[in-house]
This record gives sequence, structure tokens and C-alpha cells, in this order.
Amino acid sequence: MPPKINIFGWRLNNGILPVFSNLRRRGIGVQDRCPICRQEEETIMHAFKRCRLASEIWKMDCWGDEWTNAEHECEKRWLSNLSKKGDRNSLEVGLVTCWVIWHNKDIKNKVRRTDEETMAYVRQFMEEYEKAQSRSDVQIIQKSTRWTAPEEGYAKVNFDGALEVDDCVCGIGVVVKDELGKVLRACSNRVTHVRDPIVAEARALYTAMEFSKQLGIQSIIVEGDALELVNQLISEEENLLIIGELIQKAKTLKQCFIQFAATHIKREGNKAATG
Ligand SMILES: [Zn+2]
Repeated sequence: MPPKINIFGWRLNNGILPVFSNLRRRGIGVQDRCPICRQEEETIMHAFKRCRLASEIWKMDCWGDEWTNAEHECEKRWLSNLSKKGDRNSLEVGLVTCWVIWHNKDIKNKVRRTDEETMAYVRQFMEEYEKAQSRSDVQIIQKSTRWTAPEEGYAKVNFDGALEVDDCVCGIGVVVKDELGKVLRACSNRVTHVRDPIVAEARALYTAMEFSKQLGIQSIIVEGDALELVNQLISEEENLLIIGELIQKAKTLKQCFIQFAATHIKREGNKAATG
């Protein structure tokens, strides 16, 4: 799941979302009644199960009984109980639904979604997420020697790491371009104590991903001329080589992007792109 949903799920499951009952416990002076229905204290179980903003949703056909059964009145563990019973997919959909319910409560959000609109939004969210997942794979274009622009909505991030063998220093170049080929941002760096060309490339790759994350780019295509690295980035297997840790860190960063792909380009094209 995207990081924002994971973080939300963790807070929900641990009972630490800022519902009114939790705020009061922390000494923050708010009313305790639910701002939507004013029927009971706004606890997590009220907000996500009993409140009218939530209860009708769980009665829809797409949900199994376990979502409405009232056994898990405990503030915590609602989701973990469900995760033992339900399949992973239904749990993910449930979690996204809770997330949408939570944002539907937002007072700034004056026009609240109806139950049907909530579920339509959840379905759309899941569809887009799955689409993004399925495109998270490498397209190896070994013959490509010319830089090509990414499709609309994507930024292409070219990285290159080159060793200056004499003094164990590597130079790193990262260039971010949009769909028109316009340079959005670029960065370069020098790292010492690097002796292996693949390490230089791995450092460049990691820098490229960290840089893109900091720029807040949501959809990226990472491109480099180190074919092995590009393959490693999408491989499920753990890399035990010298660059294993860098690859693992880069893989973790993939989750920061809504859409992610990696491509290989021949050296000449990459040199032209990164300058
Ligand atoms: Zn309520």
C-alpha cells in the first residue's frame, strides 16, 4: 500500500488517530461528542464503525459480515482481527475505505461524500494503485542510444556515476527532465573512497531517487546505463553483492512514488542526458 495508507493503518490499529476521545485524554480541550452525529463520544470504533458516516458503508454487499460484526468493540485490534480472517485484498480495500471515511469527516470538507461516492472513490483509488503497481517494472531498451522524453505526467531522472580511479573519487550526476525534455532540476556530487565502478553507479542511483523524493515528484522513470543496476532495482531477490545495501535502500525509496519505472539506456545517450 502507499506509505500514507500504511501510516494511517498503523495509527488506526494502534488507536492513536486524533479522534476527540484521544485528544481529550491528552488534555486537549474539545467536546467529546462525535461532530457528525452527536450521538456518542467520538472514539475510533465510533468514527469507523458505528457513526452514520461509516456504518452504512459496511452494510453494502461488497463487505463480508466480519466488517459489521460487533465483536471487536475494542478500540485497537479491529484491523488485526480482520487481517487474520480476511484475505489481504479485502483488508487493503477496508483500510483505504477507513482512510476515505476519515477524510470525509474533515470539517473543511464541506460537501461530504455519500456512501456510494465513498465506495466509488475507494474503487478508483484501488484501481489506480494496482495500475501503478503493474507498471512498476523495468523496460529494458538496450538499443536506445538517444534520450527520449517520458510520457506525460512523468519525470525522467537520469543518473550516472563515474569513477576517477586515481584518487578513489566518484562523480555523480543526476538530471530531472519533464515530458518536453526541459531540465527541471539537476544535481552533482563527489563521493570519496569509491573503488568500484558499480558502486559509483549505485551511489548515483540512490542519489537520484533521494533527490527526486525531496523534490516531491510523484511519477518517475529512473534511467541509467548500468544495466545490472536497473535490473537489480526491480528484482525481488536480495542483492548480496557489495552494492546490496544501496540497492535495498533504493528499493525502499520506490514506495515514495505513486508511479515508478526504471529503464536502461546506452552509455552515449545517458552521457548526453546527464551532461
Ligand atoms: Zn458519529
